Amino acid sequence: MTKAMTDAVHQRVIDWFSEAARDLPWRRPECTPWGVLVSEIMLQQTPVVRVLPRWELWMQRWPTPADCAAADPAEILTVWDRLGYPRRALRLQSAAAAITSQHGGEVPQNAEELRALPGIGEYTAAAVACFAFGAPEVVVDTNIRRVHARVFSGAALPGPTYTAAQRRLAHELMPATHDDGGVRACAWNAATMELGALICTARSPQCAICPVADLCAWRAAGSPPPTDSQRTRGQAWQGTDRQVRGAIMAVLRQRSPVAAAAVLEGLDLPEASADQRRRCLDSLVADGLAVRAGEPGSAVEQIGLPGTV
Ligand code: SF4
Repeated sequence: MTKAMTDAVHQRVIDWFSEAARDLPWRRPECTPWGVLVSEIMLQQTPVVRVLPRWELWMQRWPTPADCAAADPAEILTVWDRLGYPRRALRLQSAAAAITSQHGGEVPQNAEELRALPGIGEYTAAAVACFAFGAPEVVVDTNIRRVHARVFSGAALPGPTYTAAQRRLAHELMPATHDDGGVRACAWNAATMELGALICTARSPQCAICPVADLCAWRAAGSPPPTDSQRTRGQAWQGTDRQVRGAIMAVLRQRSPVAAAAVLEGLDLPEASADQRRRCLDSLVADGLAVRAGEPGSAVEQIGLPGTV
């Protein structure tokens, strides 16, 4: 694609975003960097619609990193509720503790310092630096990878892993920062992500209303189906340990502590074997999401959220 075409893609996607972007609370000017960080952690693997009420509650309860750092871990896990992957909640609290003790309670501004916080990876560090502080970091999530793959590489899907070639492409595609200090670069990140979330979706891209339809390499190639290597296997849920772990956590959020046998036998998951239930309970304890008192498997074994046993 020529530079003129790339510039046109930038302009059209950014213009589209200024009209079509969802009004999300973490995008509003009054949102604090802490609010942006919380949103980025919650949005990993969880859709916006499920994150919104939890984010609101979290920010009411813990408006600053220091508030979150001082909270009871059981309450952290209760407010996290069913967002899934609850280790994220404890990692977020660990990051809040590091921000409080090492950065005077202020979320650090650059990606390198953000990356050094517990539980903060490359994507989250870049996203917070960009969306909270306007730093022109290269932000690449699944939605952005898909838009890049379709528009610039003519591929139906980007494949399951972020490759070196995709990383190179993402860097090459970043708008120059010398004129505006990165305003356009950050807008490009946000706009491309939104285009992937709303228009250029994985299963049913809405090419008819896409602002770059006439510039899209995948469309120009006749929208070929994904190859086997481009497909990402959908994550199963039914019958998995994740489902069983989630069901145990749901019980513990209601009642903690509680007799372990009552939790395991009371799960409404007929297909989950006793071995699977026990394995999942043990893994929650190993992950620090639950604590235990009494010998495992004994009649006196109690289980609860951290700090309740
Ligand atoms: S034309 Fe279709 S495939 Fe190409 S970017 Fe737009 S929505 Fe995605």
